[in-house]
Amino acid sequence: MNLNEAPDISGFIQRSNSLAGSVYEAIFAQLMSLKIAPGARITVDNMVRELNVSQTPIREALGRLEGEGLVVKTHLIGYSAAPQITRRRFDELYQLRLLLEPDSSARAAAAMDETKLAALQEAAGVMGRREGTDERIRYSTFARQDALFHDKILEFAGNELIRETLNHQHTHFHIFRLMFHSRVTEEALDEHEALLSAFAAGDASGAEKAMRVHLEHSRDRLLPAFE
Ligand SMILES: [Zn+2]
Repeated sequence: MNLNEAPDISGFIQRSNSLAGSVYEAIFAQLMSLKIAPGARITVDNMVRELNVSQTPIREALGRLEGEGLVVKTHLIGYSAAPQITRRRFDELYQLRLLLEPDSSARAAAAMDETKLAALQEAAGVMGRREGTDERIRYSTFARQDALFHDKILEFAGNELIRETLNHQHTHFHIFRLMFHSRVTEEALDEHEALLSAFAAGDASGAEKAMRVHLEHSRDRLLPAFE
């Protein structure tokens, strides 16, 4: 994977229906794949030139990304990419996830039915598709899908407070931004398969274990980012 290769954003924008949405996706992909480095300034004028659109969709996108914790707006200075999370916050996030997500997976497995299983399989399936698109856009799409997949499990587990708490951290965006590497995504696919098998079997303890293994492996894959 070539980190210096620019994503094919112009084509991406043309293919998309909504201009505001595709401008958002383009900047999101640059942030997630570290083309815009953590802490780097983001000027609206540069983005206007790079994406060849007016200021309005750029400002909209930056506002939305600010809400997601990926962009910081500083008075009189303007926008910049949020700094990388610290090692301490990384450890705290995984501690929190390990406390909440394996137990939630057990609860989701106990509440599983055909419709819920189909929704989880659909969310996981999108991540496995490798055809087309730019590597950066694929990586950022994976991060968003992984967030959706994990959120669906929390939804089916039935505790809205736990779901809100984890959503509020924008965990997946911060974690995936630590490293732009295909290993992060490839190995997660197999772990999701193990989870789906446990859900399909309505196996609560199997689902709990599969989620624990997935989170521990995910943590170990990303730890080298701090070396
Ligand atoms: Zn996952």
